[in-house]
Amino acid sequence: MIFKKFGNKYILRIDRGEEIVATLKTFCTDQHITLGSVTAIGATNRTTIGLFNTETKQYQSTELTGDFEITSLAGNISTMNGKVYLHLHATLSDAAYRAYGGHLNAAFISGTCELIIDVIDGACDREFSDTAGLNLLKF
Ligand code: FE
Repeated sequence: MIFKKFGNKYILRIDRGEEIVATLKTFCTDQHITLGSVTAIGATNRTTIGLFNTETKQYQSTELTGDFEITSLAGNISTMNGKVYLHLHATLSDAAYRAYGGHLNAAFISGTCELIIDVIDGACDREFSDTAGLNLLKF
């Protein structure tokens, strides 16, 4: 991964073999980024996406392998218990141009990934909600 900073924005190039979520979490920790938004496009050959079942309050997930375009990755950066917390969703397309999407757990880069972080000067923590079964933003 290499990056350049422009004002309150960063542009990152994540390379073949690197995993987006872990790379981004380490990057945000190192750069002391506690709040912001993330967008990206790229190509992956192994991705794990999930869906939160609101009845059981559990995530289900599946792994997609083979060539996929990351047609859209969107998400946010916040904190929970003093650590960087990423919430990312992604839509991927396959060789037949079919789209798959969900909560993004991991994506290994096959071609490249071009990611932009827009930093917000502040911090927003999360706390677990029994009602939702999710780590919700706390204000
Ligand atoms: Fe989600």
